[in-house]
Amino acid sequence: MKSKKSFDVIVVGAGAAGVGVGMALKRVGVESMLLLERGAVGESFRRWPEEMRFITPSFTSNAVGLVDLNAVHPSTSPAFSLEEEHPGGRQYAQYLDAVVRYTDLPVRTGVDVRSIALKNNGFSLETNGGAYSARFVVWAAGEFQYPHKGGFTGAEHCVHNTKVDSWRSWKGESIAVIGGYESGIDAAWHLSRAGKSVVVIDPAGPWKKRGESDPSLVLSPYTMARFRQMEAQHPEGLVRFIAEKVQRVDALNGQFIIRTQTLDIPTDSRPVLATGFKGSLTLIRDLLAWDSAENFPVLTQAADESTRTPGLFICGPMVRHRTANGMAILCFIYKFRMRFALIAATIASRMQLDTSPLSEYDDTNMVLRDLATCCGSGCSC
Ligand SMILES: Cc1cc2nc3c(=O)[nH]c(=O)nc-3n(C[C@H](O)[C@H](O)[C@H](O)COP(=O)(O)OP(=O)(O)OC[C@H]3O[C@@H](n4cnc5c(N)ncnc54)[C@H](O)[C@@H]3O)c2cc1C
Repeated sequence: MKSKKSFDVIVVGAGAAGVGVGMALKRVGVESMLLLERGAVGESFRRWPEEMRFITPSFTSNAVGLVDLNAVHPSTSPAFSLEEEHPGGRQYAQYLDAVVRYTDLPVRTGVDVRSIALKNNGFSLETNGGAYSARFVVWAAGEFQYPHKGGFTGAEHCVHNTKVDSWRSWKGESIAVIGGYESGIDAAWHLSRAGKSVVVIDPAGPWKKRGESDPSLVLSPYTMARFRQMEAQHPEGLVRFIAEKVQRVDALNGQFIIRTQTLDIPTDSRPVLATGFKGSLTLIRDLLAWDSAENFPVLTQAADESTRTPGLFICGPMVRHRTANGMAILCFIYKFRMRFALIAATIASRMQLDTSPLSEYDDTNMVLRDLATCCGSGCSC
């Protein structure tokens, strides 16, 4: 098994999406399958800043048909395994690891997929450990390890929030956080609790947005509650929120100056970029058709298969679709898990396998077929 490199299905990535879709593929009896993972199972979650927690709550509600929001399979629950409502990244990686071990999901770690090409009615995957081949590929390499690094002059003086090990041990007393969605408010929360002076800068002023129920569009209830606490606890301005665009960052003698349209904001430590992600699809861009206006991959609505390259499926927070009601954005686990069974059913049908074991996903409301019933038009992670 160790040296085998040819499979019916290869899943790239063993995060929430990869493990979840891998479980669904296993349920329909795909035997020749492998997950390729560049780090360890749940690698992105292992890299979360130590203090970062899930914003979507976990709860032991599976028994009444309400599957834990952060579960990747209907009969598992991170709340049950971890005894936490808002697990940290390392804890969630433990949950994924347990799912993999308990179900014998085949994962090969330390394998970095660098590119994919079409070959002999299937795919050839170039990796640091040689070439692999598969008839079907599910791309589940996520976004976290492919950060968006600002795009303004002086962004190189900043540090992306995905590179921070811990907010508690941050050196410096004054910090600018550039980006005010979930990651930015999370950074501000932990830095302010460590007694730092924090300014959060975002032209969209996400903390002011109301009237939407989709957490892909506005801050989640968990994060809004933190925002309100910061406002209430720091009326003297230790934590400030500024709805302006950063135009440049200058570094002068160990100081940093963040320049917006109307303000020059000095800090004594590197600004934090909470500017989101380019995402892993950059590696397989040519195998996908792209929506020219919004720059997302055009996939089949039935099963998130590439409309340019049949046999290649995308699974995870990068998936979005235009619908009659706007956009369906699947950027949380409780959303993108609703496509696991559809991807598995499509692959199983082409392999002439029985898809009936997937009824457990329907029975537990873990399938989203009608995308028009989902979501809004941006992602706030
Ligand atoms: C601040 C913040 C808070 C969030 N909170 C929540 C939340 O509360 N609830 C929620 O549902 N979502 C939350 N999210 C989003 C959540 O992190 C993602 O939805 C989730 O991690 C996506 O899972 P994934 O498996 O697609 O990606 P990842 O977890 O990134 O997994 C991808 C895996 O692929 C591997 N990989 C990457 N590239 C390659 C390659 N080339 N070759 C081989 N392997 C590769 C990686 O090592 C990784 O293990 C949050 C995100 C952020 C930034």
